Amino acid sequence: MKYLILGAGPAGLTFANKLKEKGENDFLVLEKEKEAGGLCRSVQVDGSPFDIGGGHFLDVRRPHVNEFLFQFMSEEEWNLYQRDSRIVVNDNVIGHPIEANIWQMKLDDQVKYLKSIAVAGCNLGLEMPQKFTDWIYWKLGNKIAEDYMIPYNQKMFNKELDQLGTYWLEKLPNVSFEETLLSCLAKKAYGKQPGHAEFYYPKEYGYGELWLRMADKIKDNILYNKSVTAIDFNTKTVTTIDGSSYQADFIITTIPWMEFSEVIGMPDELKKTIQDLKYSSIETEYFKENLETKAHWIYYPDPKLPYHRILVRHNFCENSRGYWTETNSERLDLKEDNPNFKYLNKYAYPLNTIKKPEIMKNLLKWCETKNVYGLGRWGEHQHYNSDVTVDLAMQLADKLSK
Ligand SMILES: Cc1cc2nc3c(=O)[nH]c(=O)nc-3n(C[C@H](O)[C@H](O)[C@H](O)COP(=O)(O)OP(=O)(O)OC[C@H]3O[C@@H](n4cnc5c(N)ncnc54)[C@H](O)[C@@H]3O)c2cc1C
Repeated sequence: MKYLILGAGPAGLTFANKLKEKGENDFLVLEKEKEAGGLCRSVQVDGSPFDIGGGHFLDVRRPHVNEFLFQFMSEEEWNLYQRDSRIVVNDNVIGHPIEANIWQMKLDDQVKYLKSIAVAGCNLGLEMPQKFTDWIYWKLGNKIAEDYMIPYNQKMFNKELDQLGTYWLEKLPNVSFEETLLSCLAKKAYGKQPGHAEFYYPKEYGYGELWLRMADKIKDNILYNKSVTAIDFNTKTVTTIDGSSYQADFIITTIPWMEFSEVIGMPDELKKTIQDLKYSSIETEYFKENLETKAHWIYYPDPKLPYHRILVRHNFCENSRGYWTETNSERLDLKEDNPNFKYLNKYAYPLNTIKKPEIMKNLLKWCETKNVYGLGRWGEHQHYNSDVTVDLAMQLADKLSK
């Protein structure tokens, strides 16, 4: 066929639906699982939706993306929320992000945290370090680094923390001592809001419903239970675990690069770099109790707790109860045996290691010369949210189908 799309997550589904919208029908999507949606899938647990890939909310910041998505699930089917997310640090429950909300802490903690920022490397004119952990100390000072940023990120990324770079800083706090001091004196938050300041969540369904509807529109062009294991760049053919082969003019791959156990026709030095791409795995677990909070989700840096985030389902999912946790798979207590619903996401976070930008730049550039395109969270190995992958998939479909 003309286009072969690997993976039916948001990126693959968007690319395929955009082709269809343009009148192109010569494409096939190969999906490993028995249903579409990837990390954005939902299941029913205890009578209400549970997003198996963690907390999933649709950001409002890309109106053209949402306009596209609302064709499949109209805007009336979503609730719009103002983000209420909290951090529990040193017995203080404060708003997120930390640097904008130190004013909500106990007074003596405010003084300690302000001092931490005042003597941080960035405020003393020291050179910016290139390792993520060093950067945290440099940016926020010892107190905030040790009480919050280091333990929290260690819980999320575990042993890989020391390998992370600083090039993804737009996701990280931007702190000035003067603004933090003013915020404490004026008792109000400052600075730009983090992602999802406003977000949509479906009224009746989980986030996964959107992607099921997108998959339904192209149902004759998707094959499920088709785990891709090999790619041949010379013939532009992929092979699946059951031994079938598929050939196309263009291959759009949204699956993790580590999923290819065989890569043919790629220079050896490039092929070797795929092994240096790192990722972390997350398990989600359901608890039926309601929590006494209005927060949509809460961050927990406390190293004694295995999970790093709680999603308070009853605060964003209508007529539901309970909450779920997100835990790095390396922190799971394997001895613990309870009947709770759990789901392990092997590929949850593509890690922003120091080497990654160079690896991906070379890999994607070379692949494009063969008409193979890496797309989405895994195809590009980027920490993208779903709205970003949809945006990129829309752009790539426009480019390739001209
Ligand atoms: C904990 C967590 C919270 C998040 N919160 C949000 C949020 O609030 N809002 C938001 O917008 N985004 C959020 N995201 C990000 C969101 O999950 C991703 O942006 C989105 O799923 C990326 O879509 P994708 O299609 O690129 O990748 P995926 O969703 O990972 O899809 C890849 C697809 O490829 C398939 N596949 C894998 N291997 C193979 C193979 N060998 N053969 C065939 N198919 C294969 C998979 O089964 C999957 O269907 C979150 C992610 C995580 C981990």
